[in-house]
Amino acid sequence: MIATSFLEISSKAYRQNIRYIRKEIGPKPTISAVVKGNAYGHGIAQMVEIAEKAGIRHFSTFSSDEAWMVKKNSTKQSEIMILGMLYEEELEALINAGISFYVFDFERLEKAIEISERIGVPAKIHVEVETGFHRTGFDWEQREKLVETLQKGKNHVILEGLCTHYAGAESVSNFVRVKNQISVYYDFKNYLSEHNLFFRKYHTACSAATLIFPETIMDMVRIGIAGYGFWPTKETYFAKLKDLPKTNKNPLKRLISWKSQVMSLKKVKMGEFVGYGNSFMALHNMSLAIVPVGYGHGYSRLLSNSGQVLIGGQYCQVVGTVTMNAIAVDITKVKNIQVGDEVVMIGSQKNKEITVASFSESTQQVNYELLTRLPQDIPRRIIQ
Ligand SMILES: *Cc1c(COP(=O)(O)O)cnc(C)c1O
Repeated sequence: MIATSFLEISSKAYRQNIRYIRKEIGPKPTISAVVKGNAYGHGIAQMVEIAEKAGIRHFSTFSSDEAWMVKKNSTKQSEIMILGMLYEEELEALINAGISFYVFDFERLEKAIEISERIGVPAKIHVEVETGFHRTGFDWEQREKLVETLQKGKNHVILEGLCTHYAGAESVSNFVRVKNQISVYYDFKNYLSEHNLFFRKYHTACSAATLIFPETIMDMVRIGIAGYGFWPTKETYFAKLKDLPKTNKNPLKRLISWKSQVMSLKKVKMGEFVGYGNSFMALHNMSLAIVPVGYGHGYSRLLSNSGQVLIGGQYCQVVGTVTMNAIAVDITKVKNIQVGDEVVMIGSQKNKEITVASFSESTQQVNYELLTRLPQDIPRRIIQ
């Protein structure tokens, strides 16, 4: 089967991003490559290969199915950490496989201890504490029971990590809010230390925190979006801009390109409508290229009459509505376009570029969402 579009994933761009992050954090801290959401749409299999080649030996996933995917594709026995969902039935297999996981409630913690004791294999647990995100994590009020439970289980499990996730680290203006969260994290750390509970890795930072709140870096950083070459927000970029050398104002490089080809050509006379409904009427005689990519492939309907693609090195606008499997684009001004010519939805052609940001701004999707909505069955090819 030949797909109607494909994604190219650049391993060179990834190496550059990791080099930049490494420079920011110094030689010591571990970089955990966050590959949840099908590696932010880039493909887990492809990203594990690319990341291991770039020296990464630690991966974070949201769920256990993703963790098994990493395991299957890893050739370097990298560490794997589950940040979120797993089923109790799976705990034993995960523990046996040496896959570490977050614990954020007593059910999972007690179960992990119980299984570790029974099978004689220590679970590697990351104790997540609540500091302000208010999604998962032990509350400060639970600290006594937490200590009690960890003390009891200490000889059966490995205290792999003490962690939290910050709310608002993507914005410098949340300075006070983030500072407060850091301080709550240290309260937990100190409290646990006083009760003789020490962890192998203290880790709290995602991309944004790593870049603009360096005090959050500690023993490990969990890098998602920046690894894929995107600033978490415009603000994080502006905050870093002044420190960047004049010669390279954008050290983060996009890995992903999304390409298809012209499926067919069409002439439309002035006054005729294009596509379903009547959202687009030709105001002059037009040439259209039909591209076999639609909302079913992750090309949002919100890009109807507004999205742009590159054909023949020129920006060409989507006309009419985006349908399930196709779009029509205006190629009236582009010469000599033929069926089979390359179409770029994201990426470069000649000297022009369509970035994920420009693409998602017009639909109000943030980078994260657009990327993870790219269907898993679009082929991903690793390029240099
Ligand atoms: C998704 C996630 C990250 C990575 O976030 P980025 O902003 O993509 O770097 C880090 N930690 C946790 C707990 C996460 O869920």
